[in-house]
Amino acid sequence: MDFSLSDEARMLRDLCRGFADRAIRPHAAKWDRECYFPVELFREMGELSLMGLLVPVEYGGTGVGTVAFAAAMEELAAADNSTAACWNAHLTIGSLPILHFGTEEQKRRWLVPLAQGEKLGSCAFTEPGAGSDLSGIETRALRTKEGWKLRGRKIFITNAGTEMSLGPLVLARTGENRFGFFVVPRGTPGFGIGPKAEKLGWRSMDTRELIFDDCLLPADHLLGESDVESIRQATETLAVGRISVAALSLGLARACLDASLAYALERRQFGVPIASFQAIRSKLADMATRLEMARLITMKAAWLHDRDEPYRQEAAMAKLAASELAVDASREAVQIHGGYGYMEGEFPVARYYRDAKVLEIGEGTSEILRVVIAKGLGC
Ligand SMILES: Cc1cc2nc3c(=O)[nH]c(=O)nc-3n(C[C@H](O)[C@H](O)[C@H](O)COP(=O)(O)OP(=O)(O)OC[C@H]3O[C@@H](n4cnc5c(N)ncnc54)[C@H](O)[C@@H]3O)c2cc1C
Repeated sequence: MDFSLSDEARMLRDLCRGFADRAIRPHAAKWDRECYFPVELFREMGELSLMGLLVPVEYGGTGVGTVAFAAAMEELAAADNSTAACWNAHLTIGSLPILHFGTEEQKRRWLVPLAQGEKLGSCAFTEPGAGSDLSGIETRALRTKEGWKLRGRKIFITNAGTEMSLGPLVLARTGENRFGFFVVPRGTPGFGIGPKAEKLGWRSMDTRELIFDDCLLPADHLLGESDVESIRQATETLAVGRISVAALSLGLARACLDASLAYALERRQFGVPIASFQAIRSKLADMATRLEMARLITMKAAWLHDRDEPYRQEAAMAKLAASELAVDASREAVQIHGGYGYMEGEFPVARYYRDAKVLEIGEGTSEILRVVIAKGLGC
């Protein structure tokens, strides 16, 4: 196995690193404090061809492959996890259902503007009564003479409330055990958008409730020629999102290590830098070691995905290992910074601590990932 980056992937990673240093890191604390979604950033990312990394060139993307994509995601995630998470939602769940299920006409109509960064992608699975178990969704799409009538509610939806949004891809029940994705453009009558949710972390992210009150859609707004027979069929192509959230987690863990190391070398107590205390050195060594391990399994999952080999087990392991590392690393980063770590403003680690928790929840909770991994072991 060779997960080393190709020259092309290295160029993309370096481009993202430079972009993050210039356009993201200096503003991240302000965006967080003001709960501001930086729409202008995403427009610039479109100009830099960063909005269609997983979409083939023929549909306006760059099709860089999953290994390069994961390396790029880690760079933005290290600079600001919240805006990187919005980018992640656009690139994966907000775009890939159109690529996987859409007809040629639908790809030209909706995927191309997403991949070129004219529009921002979003996808609505979660409902008040259905999160980990999506087979329980109650949003219904009823056939009408002209097309479809959508009725139901979705919660916690990323990007759909922003002015740049294409409108969400909505997973709905089309029959007793049948499901489909529907494109619901902004402004469709019967489609309502709730107020911006207040969150512990990822505060620049725009997260909202969506309401479909007899929302009428033309027949061609169902992705693909027909609905599908199971929730598994509707969602199984999206496991690549777990690799992406693993990379988001790696970025956060790396930011925690970098901040902690710099502080430990600088901060003096008892006449010496705190980095000379064994207790602090152990924390830094553990963070660095777990970061390397989590990156290796993430890159293995990405490499398998690029080769069209089974990758779901590795993707689940990568997301589990990296997200739990991010939470642990952010807690230790605050600890290493002492009281300064608990304060907002001077150091970023309080924000990292708030941002980290959600990584254990989205794209499969840690509990669900353990269920998936154990099943993969044959139990
Ligand atoms: C900031 C943010 C952004 C989000 N963005 C989106 C988005 O863009 N689109 C979207 O569709 N959703 C989005 N979500 C929703 C997210 O995907 C769900 O929160 C997640 O899938 C968990 O579902 P739930 O919240 O309903 O928790 P539940 O499924 O109710 O889980 C609650 C607890 O029970 C545990 N549990 C559940 N089932 C089992 C089991 N079988 N075994 C053991 N433990 C179990 C879980 O692990 C968890 O600890 C977002 C969430 C957040 C917080």
